[in-house]
Amino acid sequence: MAWLRRYFAYWFTLVVLLVLVAWPGRIMYYKHLTEKEAERIAAITPSHVAEHAPQRLSKEQLMADVRWLAAPERQGRLAGSPEGDATRQYIVQRFQELGLEPGGTEGYLHPFSTERSGTTANVIGIIPGNEHKKGKPLRTIVVTAHYDHLGVRDGKVYHGADDNASGTAALLEFARFLMQYPNRHPIALMALDHEENGLKGARALFSTQLLNPKEVAFNINMDMISRDTQQSLFAVGSYHNPWLVPLLQRVQQESAVKLILAHDRPARKAGYTPDWTFSSDHGPFHAQGIPFLYFGVADHADYHQPTDTADRVDEDFFHAAAEASLSSLLLIDRVLAEKL
Ligand SMILES: [Zn+2]
Repeated sequence: MAWLRRYFAYWFTLVVLLVLVAWPGRIMYYKHLTEKEAERIAAITPSHVAEHAPQRLSKEQLMADVRWLAAPERQGRLAGSPEGDATRQYIVQRFQELGLEPGGTEGYLHPFSTERSGTTANVIGIIPGNEHKKGKPLRTIVVTAHYDHLGVRDGKVYHGADDNASGTAALLEFARFLMQYPNRHPIALMALDHEENGLKGARALFSTQLLNPKEVAFNINMDMISRDTQQSLFAVGSYHNPWLVPLLQRVQQESAVKLILAHDRPARKAGYTPDWTFSSDHGPFHAQGIPFLYFGVADHADYHQPTDTADRVDEDFFHAAAEASLSSLLLIDRVLAEKL
């Protein structure tokens, strides 16, 4: 059998040599792609923002909700914890007061179970649309923001003000605004649980068949929208749906934050630049073939730290980021209805 051993030794050596040659080449190529992507992002970063941005949402209400959600009493809103339940009740009560239609399986609640956290629940409120096609409502636009965070670790509370009290507070202000607005599609506002550690709440929407992907027109997800030293907000998703590019350019014209269309390209396009296509609750929507837009800031020093507190939120930026997200939602509602 000596020939067989020699045969294998020959091929083994060849493969090792090929890898040794190819690996540094691959690293060099990816570094080159990363630099190119940084150049692309620099070129599309707006030099200035709109002077007169819409003021539809209340900055005071946004901040009041962030302070409540990120207060020490919430204990970091871990999925399955009593404080997570209390947060859920807070959102349910608000949806009730505003008069949203319940969109869960038990009123506003959409309970689901995980091994790690037991039974927990998403909170879902619906605002019907004004337009119909052949007597039926248009497909639903789903707006998502997760309300859970990391809880308490080693005696330290992880407050999760930016991540994602900010998105949850924006969702609640959207609810108030949309109740007075003639949206064409039905809009489902979903405060999702258990995003941390596995996007479990978003996955459960499909695994329990609460959502039929064919009946969902679009997903807008907000996760971390309240602070950035560069005043930039990433708008993720237009790589997968290029029709969103001109739409976001229109939003930029009335936005007081810089919208940057990035973090949605695969490694073969963007090298080592992180691809956020599956980084938050929009991921399961994308996996179902539903177009999405995700709004979020770059990771900062307080990301997933106990220091992600309400006093570190940039109130003006947060307000402007929520307004830009709302502008996108309203334009998508219009554009998709006109495409019919
Ligand atoms: Zn988050």
